[in-house]
Amino acid sequence: MSGDSPAMFGDNSVLIVVDIQNDFCPGGALAVPRGDEVVPIVNRLAAKFRHVVLTQDWHPQGHLSFASSHPGKQPFETITVAYGPQILWPDHCVQTTWGAEFHKSLQIAHAGLIVRKGADRSIDSYSAFYENDRKTQTGLAGYLRERGLTRVFLAGLALDFCVRYSAEDARREDFAVFVIEDACRGIDIGGSIAATHRSFAALGISCLATREFASNNPT
Ligand SMILES: [Zn+2]
Repeated sequence: MSGDSPAMFGDNSVLIVVDIQNDFCPGGALAVPRGDEVVPIVNRLAAKFRHVVLTQDWHPQGHLSFASSHPGKQPFETITVAYGPQILWPDHCVQTTWGAEFHKSLQIAHAGLIVRKGADRSIDSYSAFYENDRKTQTGLAGYLRERGLTRVFLAGLALDFCVRYSAEDARREDFAVFVIEDACRGIDIGGSIAATHRSFAALGISCLATREFASNNPT
């Protein structure tokens, strides 16, 4: 493939690849159904972008989002913490474990930045931009602005949590936002996928399909 990007994915566009890690794929601790299917799709997609950022859920042991940290609680229950409601999850993406590693078939060597999130034991972080207290910034918005990246494309896991929150925050930070939906898979807890689509429509977040990219960049 040539090193030139088509205009659509040129110097002002960035692909953010969300949480394609072992624990979010089949066989992992918090598997997104068919999550591994996105890996080859995202590999092909990333090759069309000059600028790529990866995110990596990266929790210490005993993280507040783990049901095991709250005696008597079960995964997928919701509790109230200092910053509001928090869904409890199975232990997942513990720092330096296999589950926290990127899927072995993810091949995006040219990614310029890896954003690790959820590393504070007392705050969960779905979004690549803000932790779940909605105040603590990861620094990603500043990075994108300094690089002149104004168009944010998102793919990865899970559509209705980390991709959704990242897309919403990118929009609030005034980036143009596009979610490449067939390059995502969702968990769907309590209607969360439908809620995600309603939110995207309300915020002006566009959903695209990878075939719309192929037509712009025949290979
Ligand atoms: Zn997590």
